[in-house]
Amino acid sequence: MTNKELKTLKIKLENHGTSTGSNWFTNKDTILSSSPTNGKPIARVECTSYKEYEKVIKEAEHAKLIWRDIPAPKRGEIIRQLGEKLREKKPTLGKLVSYEMGKSYQEGLGEVQEMIDICDFAVGISRQLYGNTIHSERPGHRMYDQYHPLGIVGIITAFNFPVAVWAWNSALALVCGNVVVWKPSEKTPLCAIACQHILADILKSNKLPEGISSLLMGNAEIGTWLSKDSRVPLISATGSTRMGRQVAMTVAERLGKTLLELGGNNAIIVTPKADLKMTIIGAVFGAVGTAGQRCTSTRRLIVHDSIYDKVKTSLVEAYKQIKIGDPLDTQYHMGPLIDIDAVQKYLDALSKIKEQGGKILVEGGVLKGDGYESGCYVSPVIAEVDNQFPIVQEETFAPILYLIKYSGEVQQAIAIQNNVRQGLSSSIMTTDLREAEVFLSQNGSDCGIANVNIGTSGAEIGGAFGGEKETGGGRESGSDAWKVYMRRQTNTINYTTSLPLAQGIQFEL
Ligand code: NAD
Repeated sequence: MTNKELKTLKIKLENHGTSTGSNWFTNKDTILSSSPTNGKPIARVECTSYKEYEKVIKEAEHAKLIWRDIPAPKRGEIIRQLGEKLREKKPTLGKLVSYEMGKSYQEGLGEVQEMIDICDFAVGISRQLYGNTIHSERPGHRMYDQYHPLGIVGIITAFNFPVAVWAWNSALALVCGNVVVWKPSEKTPLCAIACQHILADILKSNKLPEGISSLLMGNAEIGTWLSKDSRVPLISATGSTRMGRQVAMTVAERLGKTLLELGGNNAIIVTPKADLKMTIIGAVFGAVGTAGQRCTSTRRLIVHDSIYDKVKTSLVEAYKQIKIGDPLDTQYHMGPLIDIDAVQKYLDALSKIKEQGGKILVEGGVLKGDGYESGCYVSPVIAEVDNQFPIVQEETFAPILYLIKYSGEVQQAIAIQNNVRQGLSSSIMTTDLREAEVFLSQNGSDCGIANVNIGTSGAEIGGAFGGEKETGGGRESGSDAWKVYMRRQTNTINYTTSLPLAQGIQFEL
């Protein structure tokens, strides 16, 4: 990625890390963002001090009073403009996502497209923030419920979707009348700075106040400031289960609200009735796409014993075709892991698989030599395991696919699939209607996402996205997920001349 391209996204070598709207602060503590594609530094980013944090929240508190008074469809107009700007910036922003995070350019573009899609969705929602009208049991009374903005929404995001998760949350939170304060991952700060500039410019050109959208920069500590802050009624946090547990406890202590989008341990069930060609495509894409660093990446393949050997052989063959290299070069299928820490976690998982009795079918390792200088490129792995192995019960954020055998009916496979602590994405490969319906029933998958003849990876923005159990229970993006960004109020109006009291109580004056 060239300096000229970075400039079009307003990324300079020295960047201000904290922003209320288009007003950027400076501070001495910095983070250096390097590309996992080649190990080269891209830019240095300044971290938010506590004093700056206070200023951001003060600006946000001021801005929320103005923003919530703007009619929702007019707020939608600002998000329409954001979608338009993102269309214009898609090639360069997609490239920055690929360069800073390490996913393929195609996936970087796909992520920006998700931002555009959620903007379009949010514009529509801005005219549909509907409540119910309710028939009162009392004569001459009318009831309805309506939704009001919460105020300030704090958004904490992970490195693996450095721009889309912010957009999923912000587009909806903003049309709902909230202002947003974003704490992005310290591993992908430049993507956040680029997004902040795009929205801040739109706000400025519409003469809207600083503080409708702000950016905090730095590590987990800054996330804890947000979590503790009772001026921030909702914290939407995306990341590891470890982080989610801490955020949930901190926010619960002050009785605030959380929207948690945490780790997954996603499985595809492959029944004897599966279309094997579709299965292999879905499994390979799900396991090695984004180098296994999607919350919805396929971690486990639960295969019926009657077709197990056939699936195993086809998968091992397919893995031989995977080309690993610079994600900005479209000839490669898989790019690097985010950093050296992630590589170490991948290596630790490989040791544990062996220690716990797993059999490696496709050997892994760290790639060395030309093009792999960053030290972040690894080979994808396939291992035969037992679902009960402690390492299989964990989410390893790397391209490791576990093969697990089941016998008997589909219920056996579902029991294995559900027997993990996480509950994000799941799928079944079958052409048998009965198997598919059992999988989707109340006795089936316990995940927030359950697919038939589609892999586990990715999701359309039109559906509510999220998962159960240790995945955190939150839902964002489509369907009626907007409601989490609002407070519900029940209103009863008496248009008679008398006041009937509850429970028939008589009170004469
Ligand atoms: P992470 O938990 O290390 O960090 C995520 C964010 O939380 C970062 O901004 C970090 O600074 C912040 N943070 C960490 N500890 C915190 C604390 N105690 N209080 C407040 N903020 C804190 O996660 P990561 O490595 O960036 O991302 C990978 C994880 O995210 C995986 O587990 C993946 O499954 C998950 N993820 C889930 C979804 C989903 O929608 N369910 C989407 C993307 C990623």
